[in-house]
Order: sequence, then structure tokens, then C-alpha cells
Amino acid sequence: MKIKLLSSKTINKIATGEVIDRPVSVVKECIENAIDAGASNIQIDMMRGGRSLISVSDDGDGITKDDLLLAITRHATSKLNDENIDKISYMGFRGEALASMATAGQLILQSKQGIDGWQINGDTMDITPVAHRKGTTVKVQNLFHSMPNRIRFLKPESSEIVACTNLINAIAIAHSNICFSLNHNDKSILNFNSKSNRIFEVLGQDFINNALYFDTGEYYQDMSRIRLHGHISVPTYNRKTYNNMFLFVNKRLVKDAFLQKLVRTAYFNTLPEGMNPSVALFLDLPIECVDVNVHPHKTEVRFTNENLVRDIVIQSIRNTIQNAKTRVILSSKPKASQLELHDSGCSYHDTKKNSAELKQEYLGIARFQIQNKYIVAENASGLILVDQHAAHERIVLEHIKCCNKISSQPLLIPITHDFGKAANEFIMSLNLQMIGIGLSSEDFTIINIHSIPLLPGNVDVIELLYDIINDSELFSEVFQVHVNKILQKVACHSSIRAGRQMNLNEMNALLRLIEKTSFGSQCVHGRPTYIELSIHTLNKMFERE
Ligand code: ADP
Ligand code: MG
Repeated sequence: MKIKLLSSKTINKIATGEVIDRPVSVVKECIENAIDAGASNIQIDMMRGGRSLISVSDDGDGITKDDLLLAITRHATSKLNDENIDKISYMGFRGEALASMATAGQLILQSKQGIDGWQINGDTMDITPVAHRKGTTVKVQNLFHSMPNRIRFLKPESSEIVACTNLINAIAIAHSNICFSLNHNDKSILNFNSKSNRIFEVLGQDFINNALYFDTGEYYQDMSRIRLHGHISVPTYNRKTYNNMFLFVNKRLVKDAFLQKLVRTAYFNTLPEGMNPSVALFLDLPIECVDVNVHPHKTEVRFTNENLVRDIVIQSIRNTIQNAKTRVILSSKPKASQLELHDSGCSYHDTKKNSAELKQEYLGIARFQIQNKYIVAENASGLILVDQHAAHERIVLEHIKCCNKISSQPLLIPITHDFGKAANEFIMSLNLQMIGIGLSSEDFTIINIHSIPLLPGNVDVIELLYDIINDSELFSEVFQVHVNKILQKVACHSSIRAGRQMNLNEMNALLRLIEKTSFGSQCVHGRPTYIELSIHTLNKMFERE
């Protein structure tokens, strides 16, 4: 086949398809332009899910008459020059969005910077006077009218509006000084004014009740400056959806798989399978330490120092959820479960306390056991119910984690296996002795396994090693995850199974152990280990309040 140069029209269409693939991308690019222009008010109007009209109006710096034509020309931008390509501080920088909109639909760009307002028509390139306040309005009509294939693949109007709502919600969290409004078919959908508490408005009161705030402050390592701060939910507040993971890098909303994985890893062992935390997290680092130019929508990022990012995300989230004492309060209907956060300052080891003193402890004094499964205790503010198996499982897990070593069991005849040369080399570079695995290899063509973890449950060591290899990219925390997985098995096997009768002394000892255990309020599968029904809640349930 002969190689031919494409016409500029075809090149434009291909490039357009990358930047503007659906109505919400028009909205995103326009909002980013308005933020870059220093706007404090951004108003978005859409008709028919953005198919017939998308209009984004701002009160930013505006564009001069002379720049209108360049603004809609491909690869023309005021934000980037050949020198600063590695130091992008603007939301946009490729000079493609407006040009793509002009290809994808009928574009009218109106703006006023000085005294007079001007507009350019993207079809005719005519520039004519227009009445406009200071700032800019971008109108795109009949999106994709010349690209029938795109129209065929468009999602329903309602899902475009949902996507726009999610996008604006997220951007509004990061830019709390800017007012945003969204109207669809002349009906108001969103309205954020400058005084609103964005976290509250977007994530709701329930999240606020169940959220912990932390701020690492500025933190220096290897010449890098980094800071992470924001709200994260306690583990017992979890959702099936990913939509409540708001991650911002230098205030830019990202949907980055690496960061999402780090957050989930930080919550490892505290959440039920398949559930996700809700977070609104801000990672700030010098612009030269992060590359946003990896994806057409700039939603994925690369970090120059991934290890530093990994450490700060995992450690700070884990510290925050570990230090928080949480308890579940069942409130009367219709509200679902709520959590209250407590920092308990009680002393744990004192067994000589009398009943009155024990009642003052965080989990109170044990009264009796039901069905050999739950402990009923009384504390100063009401009733405590403990799932003895779930609680003990967590206690044992945290205890083994402190010792941080699993004994190993030597094999009479070593197992040999070839994982592939690179993988063999990788495995040999790890310190697997700490989980009881002893290895040797002559020249990395084959691995000899001399010892395996000594555990009550069976561990398929080859499978485990394959799993570690598959996750090599995120290795340092995944390694931790595997250690935890194995430890979890040990914990489960040596726990006080449901069905064991306990005397009051044993029950009280268990309560004291829960109080001093990290992550003590959830079992290793993410279920609560205890529930509190305060007098206040009991009164409410009996309608005394
Ligand atoms: P980029 O944002 O990558 O520079 P765009 O195609 O989005 O590319 O915009 C091209 C140029 O038009 C911008 O560099 C900016 O100078 C100007 N511009 C676009 N939108 C606005 C706006 N809302 N306010 C002021 N200037 C704008
Ligand atoms: Mg732009």
C-alpha cells in the first residue's frame, strides 16, 4: 500500500475525536479555560444533553479581538511556549480544544477584554461586534453534526448530564472560590455559590459525620516538596461505587489508576471485599515533578518520584484511619448507620478496677454473652454489643503484625520452578524470608524453594509468587498486602470462634484488648467488631425523645 499524507481536514477530525469525544468533554475543556482565565463565575447551559447546545460563560480575563482567530486555530495557545513545556501550571496547554470544537460542531466564541465585545464564527471565521460583559462565552451548537459516526456512539442525554454533574461537582470541590451553575433545558441542575461548603454539598452530611481530615503539611524528601491533605471516610463507611474517590493533583481532578490503587491499598484489610472508601484528597507537588501530558483528557498523571507519592499516600491514610476509634451507632429510622469518632484515653491494663470504674472505660464492663457469639457490655453512655469472633480476629492479626515475622517450614525436597528469567531475578531480589519463604537460584534460570510459611491454612507458594510477580509494578505495598493476606489467615484460624462460651473475666479482657488494638473497630473483612447503642439512641428507638 502506498503511504499518503492525510489532508489537514482529516487530521483535524482525528485530533478532534481525541479531545472532544462527547458533550462532557466540551464542558470540561471550557471550564478549564475559564479557570485558566481567572474566572470567579462560570455558568454552563445545555440543551438536549449538550447535543443541540453547550454554552459556557465566564467572567475571566477575556480574549482580544486580535486573538479570536488564533484562539480557535489548532496548536495556538497563550499558555505554553517552547521553553516551559515541563512546567505546566495551567489546566489546558495544548491549544487544541477550541479548534476541535470548531471542527466537531458550530462554534461561536464571544469575548470582551477591553471596551468592546467581539465574536468569531467558527464556520465562516467572520469576526463581528457583540454585546458582552467582561469575560468569555463559548457556544457549541449541533455537536458532531458532521461526524455521524460519533452521534451513533453517543450515550443517552441523561447520562451526559450525569457525567457533567459529576465533573462539575468534582471541580467545585477543588475550586471553592469559584461559583458554578449548570442549567439543562432551562432547568437549574447545580448551583454552587462562593460561600458554600463544597465537601458537604457534594458528598453529603453522612460523609462529613464519617470522615476524618488530615494534612501532612509540607514535607520534603530527596529535594521534592510534597503535601497531601483532605477528607477520608472511616472504613465502616464504604460504597460499591468508585465515584466518591475524588483525587486532585495540584487541584486538577485525576482518574489515575496508580493513585486509586494506592488509596485502596491504604484501606487494605479494613474494607469489605469490593467496597470503596469515599475520599476527597489533594496532592500538591512541584509542577516539574508531575507529567499531566500523558492522556488526551489529562486525567492520568505520571510522577517523577513514584515511591515518594506511594509512601505519603499509603502512610498518611493508614495512620489516620488507624488512630481513629470508631463506633457504629444505629440511629432510629430512616437514617442508616452513622458513626461517631472517638479518641479514647483510657488505661488498658488495669484489671483490678471495680465495676464503677470499668463502666468508665471506652467499651465498658461486660455483663453477659448471648448465643456464645456476642458480648453485651455497658459503658457510661449506654450499651455495647461485641462480635467476639470478629473482634478477636482483628486483635490476633494486629498482634502478629507487630511481631512481623512468620516462621518457616523447611522442605525435605525443594520445589523448583521457572517463572521466567526476569521474574526469577525479581523474586530473588525480595526479602521473602520474612514471610517464611526460603529461596535460592544459581543463574536465575530456575528457582529452588527450600522453605515455605509455617501456617495453619495451606498456602500455594507458587501461586503466591506468581501473584507477587503480577503486581511487581506496585511492589512495595503489594508485598505488604501479601504479608497481610497470609497473616489474615493465621488470625482467622487462631481466633475465638463464634460459639465459644466465655466467662466475665475473659469477656472483659477481650474488651480491653479491642480498645488498644489498631483498627480495632473493624474485623479483617471490614465488618464492625462492636456496635454502640447509646442511651440517647435507645430513648429515640422507644420514642422517648
Ligand atoms: P489551551 O487551553 O490548551 O491553550 P484552547 O483551545 O482551549 O487551548 O484555547 C486556546 C486559547 O484561547 C487559550 O490559550 C486562551 O488564550 C484562549 N481562551 C480560551 N478560552 C478562554 C476563556 N474562557 N477566557 C480567556 N481566554 C480563553
Ligand atoms: Mg483549553
